[in-house]
Amino acid sequence: MRRQKLKKPEKLLKAELQYIYNYTCRLYREGYIDEAINLSKNLVKLAFKYKLGGYAFKLVCRKCYVPVIPGLTVTYRVKRRGGKSYILTRCINCGYTRKKVFKHKGVEKRARKK
Ligand SMILES: [Zn+2]
Repeated sequence: MRRQKLKKPEKLLKAELQYIYNYTCRLYREGYIDEAINLSKNLVKLAFKYKLGGYAFKLVCRKCYVPVIPGLTVTYRVKRRGGKSYILTRCINCGYTRKKVFKHKGVEKRARKK
């Protein structure tokens, strides 16, 4: 008989990752930077165990494992080119940039009031 792995619902796992992320943010803000990076490396390891690596890299920088804190470790810029808009996230620590394209949902260009 094959033994199956115990599977947790995805929602619960994400909540757990968020809990660890909150703790790393607090460590980073208080000045324990090495400890925060160590903990976020463990966070990524744990996330890969449950196939949530993509989600983990939203909370942690892909290159230098610094927790993503808007305004402190990461800058966000919204840019527009042609008909598409995208969000640029840039890590201040290592300079890693990431682009995310999004489309406007049902918003017409000329829908102004007269
Ligand atoms: Zn980085």
